[in-house]
Amino acid sequence: MNDFVIAPPAASFVPVAGGGRFPVRRVFCVGRNYAEHAREMGHDPAREPPFFFMKPADALVIEGADAPYPPMTKDLHHEIELVVALQSGGAEIPVAEAASHIYGYAAGIDLTRRDVQAELRKAGRPWDMGKGFDHSAPIGEIAPASRIGHPAKAAIELRVNGETRQTGDIAGMTWNVDEVIAELSRYVTLAAGDLIFTGTPAGVSALQPGDRLEGSVAGVGTVSVRIG
Ligand code: MN
Repeated sequence: MNDFVIAPPAASFVPVAGGGRFPVRRVFCVGRNYAEHAREMGHDPAREPPFFFMKPADALVIEGADAPYPPMTKDLHHEIELVVALQSGGAEIPVAEAASHIYGYAAGIDLTRRDVQAELRKAGRPWDMGKGFDHSAPIGEIAPASRIGHPAKAAIELRVNGETRQTGDIAGMTWNVDEVIAELSRYVTLAAGDLIFTGTPAGVSALQPGDRLEGSVAGVGTVSVRIG
């Protein structure tokens, strides 16, 4: 019996390289997970425990679609990130077991209203409207770990209109993927369908309407999006 009082919202999903769709439950993000990016944001890159924020699952922008330039900002920034897709979950997952919960990996972009984020941070308020807005999470196809393994070292980069803006290596993460999963699972019970954006290397900068973004994580995949 369909007793929904309004039409249920469409489920979010991400295409899988080689076929199929990955259904998305939640989107978690890690803040300041590369020392050079922490420095460029004016923070001490000491190895403090990772911290987390979220984006709505329907903020994902699937490969090929435009991301409109969002309202309420004059300083939209790009952050290229390795994204982890979970096939199972749990609470208090040990680091040594974290990889067994990973379905695959993708390249994603954490679009950020940097001016809004800075104002909210200064006021001690939640980051949500700086990070979790509509179309704020472009993502490429998910590569299954059964095919590519679990990359520990891989070049990560972002080009804007063909010009390289961000370069790094995922080996430069302050907290690696397994440690991120373990720490996050102390706060929430992780589950199949959860995505984790694992932080960005240095080189974040402002975007303009019409910019074309091409990101990649070597051996994992690419993400491309045009700012509308
Ligand atoms: Mn980020």
